[in-house]
Amino acid sequence: MKWLVNNVRFIPYGRQYIDEDDISAVVDALKSDWLTTGPMVQEFEKKLAGRAGAKYAVAFSSGTAALHAAYFAAGVGPGDEIITTPITFAATANAALYLGARPVFVDVRPDTVNINSELIIKSVTPKTRVLAPVDFAGHPADLEEIMDIAKKNNLVVVEDACHALGADYKGRPVGSLADMTVFSFHPVKHITTGEGGAVTTNSIKYYEILSSFRTHGMVRNKEKMHDYHGPWYHEMHFLGYNYRMTDIQSALGVSQLKKLDRFIKRRREIAKFYKHELGKIETIETPVELASVKHAWHLYVVRIKNSKLNRRVMYEKLHELGIGVQVHYIPVYWHPYYQKIGYPKGLCPEAELYYNRALSLPIFPSMDMADAGRVVDALAKIAV
Ligand SMILES: *Cc1c(COP(=O)(O)O)cnc(C)c1O
Repeated sequence: MKWLVNNVRFIPYGRQYIDEDDISAVVDALKSDWLTTGPMVQEFEKKLAGRAGAKYAVAFSSGTAALHAAYFAAGVGPGDEIITTPITFAATANAALYLGARPVFVDVRPDTVNINSELIIKSVTPKTRVLAPVDFAGHPADLEEIMDIAKKNNLVVVEDACHALGADYKGRPVGSLADMTVFSFHPVKHITTGEGGAVTTNSIKYYEILSSFRTHGMVRNKEKMHDYHGPWYHEMHFLGYNYRMTDIQSALGVSQLKKLDRFIKRRREIAKFYKHELGKIETIETPVELASVKHAWHLYVVRIKNSKLNRRVMYEKLHELGIGVQVHYIPVYWHPYYQKIGYPKGLCPEAELYYNRALSLPIFPSMDMADAGRVVDALAKIAV
């Protein structure tokens, strides 16, 4: 199962780690009475909430569905605005568009590449409903400052922590801090369910809306119903979706969650090795980790310092050497769709500068130090 490029083993920028325990957990789920929403979904939600330090977790069919649900629960509707960063996967902004709301992009901090919390207040308007920081690459955003702005302006914080399961902010786990925190379990993320996502929250109100939104806006809690005809009875209270996670996926999630600490440990070891080794290469700038956080290292993004080095040439040369570097992210509003709906280029200069110099190096739990050594050697060879 080795993927070869020019006869050398290709190292992708990220990939899942699946072992025999994961496989038997999925097989057990397939043999059980439930395939879709059953006991494994509940167990996964309970374990995830426990790990994230939150009261509740609601599992979804994807991180994107989870974002859509979180914005909805926050009360986002047509004409509203959500404030987010351009350096993210398009889903963070797209989910606002699904609800007829407008994403407002605020530029990033040059060091962490997270939304610059000092610039947020200038973009708050009477239409703003949500602040949606992204914990880019696994480095938590300035949550204390952001929660403070939200409180003073009556806004809801939906933290896109799709990169940051297992990260800490000021000694507290990501997932326990914002009003709602969104995770993804796509195979390149920290743990996988194939496709999948979740929202964690401490609010029973959000928990109930999220749970209904996932299944057509249906309500089964008798106390909340307008009417009651018998035990079969349920009511649809708003227009929701089928965004459910299956028991098969949740079984995989429960099994993967047991390995999360090990996965994070390996990612931190690789990051430490990169920092040490790449520090010797003058043309490369390594990512920062502020003292207030524990980074989850979903991505390891270096920046090219020397303007004579061409990022595209470096990307191509590294791929020829079997090193699957990537670029995260094209500023969201640069995409032709966003251009078409009126976002000008030049909106967030720091984000654009970052984009032109960024290169994500391979980092994932099944990577060994020899692989990391290959990445460093290849960079040392071409980054001159
Ligand atoms: C992966 C990701 C998402 C979307 O998650 P899916 O599970 O792929 O729908 C959203 N935001 C960020 C920052 C992501 O990395």
